[in-house]
Amino acid sequence: MAIKFSVPRGTYDILPDISYKWEYVTKVFRDVAREFNYKEIVTPIFENSNIFERSVGATSDIVEKEMYKFEDKKGRSFALRPEGTAPVVRSFIENGLNLKPNSSKLYYLGPMFRYDRPQKGRYRQFYQYGIENIGSTNVYNDAEAIAFAYSFLTRLGLQNFELQINSIGCKKCTQDYDNALKEYFTPNIDSLCSDCRNRLIKNPKRVLDCKVKTCKIIASNAPSMIDYLDEDCQRDFEKVKEYLNVMNIPFIVNAKIVRGLDYYSQTAFEFIDTNLGAQNTLIGGGRYNTLAEQLGGKNLPGIGFAGGFERLLLSMEQENSSFGLPQIPKVYLVTLGEEAVSKGIELLSKLRKNGISTEYDPDKISMNAQMKMANKTEAGFALILGKNELENNIIILKNLATGEQKNVNLTKIIELMKDI
Ligand code: AMP
Repeated sequence: MAIKFSVPRGTYDILPDISYKWEYVTKVFRDVAREFNYKEIVTPIFENSNIFERSVGATSDIVEKEMYKFEDKKGRSFALRPEGTAPVVRSFIENGLNLKPNSSKLYYLGPMFRYDRPQKGRYRQFYQYGIENIGSTNVYNDAEAIAFAYSFLTRLGLQNFELQINSIGCKKCTQDYDNALKEYFTPNIDSLCSDCRNRLIKNPKRVLDCKVKTCKIIASNAPSMIDYLDEDCQRDFEKVKEYLNVMNIPFIVNAKIVRGLDYYSQTAFEFIDTNLGAQNTLIGGGRYNTLAEQLGGKNLPGIGFAGGFERLLLSMEQENSSFGLPQIPKVYLVTLGEEAVSKGIELLSKLRKNGISTEYDPDKISMNAQMKMANKTEAGFALILGKNELENNIIILKNLATGEQKNVNLTKIIELMKDI
């Protein structure tokens, strides 16, 4: 009996009929990166697992429950990367990028892996785009990172999103706030979900982030982080807001944004799609001034964000945004008879060398079959070469949209195709 294989649960194939959409959003992301002068960094998809344990936090959901962790043949512990920031910071430190000019503003694209319960907008292998700006505490960089994300979403034509920002303070402010949260939640501890009961002990801020309805209701009157910010953090937060205002970027302050990972401090932000349902965070980001220290680097504060391509595509589809044009060849080559095949292949090669996308199917022999294929590929033109044309050193150029056709001298066809 034949065995039937399928993709692993929570993963999917990007098939040819939609891959152009991915290509489009990736291109727009790269365009925006160039405008903001961020450069690409590519790191491996697996790393030493303790890179994530030390930075993201051993008690975070990502590390505690969702990491694809494995031992290699020598018993070393690795993990498929669940997120992009820790690997970029690892590479930044390892390669001394702080000492190299123009190397502090980085972007990445690629798959991440989390063993979570799959649902719409949540996968086990998903693709993120993200940026990191490492080395400065100046909060202009926070506003710039937000402006980058905002430009990207608007460039894609999206409108139904909301930028929410918060400051989760520095270590000093956090301690007081954590105590206040513990005091607030403890009387209701029995009504919290089991995850939140744990969170209350280990990292109480994360109760605010819980999606469970009863936890959300209890959290709705919790003390606000904003009231616990010290003077410096308050001043920084005001500056971020001021810079966003002068850049004309609309936002709301949401004191409940805490971000799920342990390394964040001060500025935290999310872009929420107001129509997406449960998994509605398009982009999440924030400042991480102590992350590099956890990974053995010194004085390397940073700010960044990451977003998932899957939710982005869902949003774009809902808003009927344009994905550019699907890939179609400009020319479909038709050859009739044995003699025309060799000359046809020579022409095909020249057309492609001149940047003219051309399709040819050597298995289709008859005129009818080849013209049918030409129409199916949605090519703009057919070039038809038969015995008669060869003898007269010409080729038939047929406009497939209008049906118009004419004879063109074979020596002139490349130049002509470049112009139309
Ligand atoms: P995070 O790294 O958890 O802050 O997530 C940043 C962004 O990545 C989210 O806002 C989503 O757009 C996307 N994302 C995170 N986890 C998943 C997942 N399991 N499946 C699809 N997209 C995800």
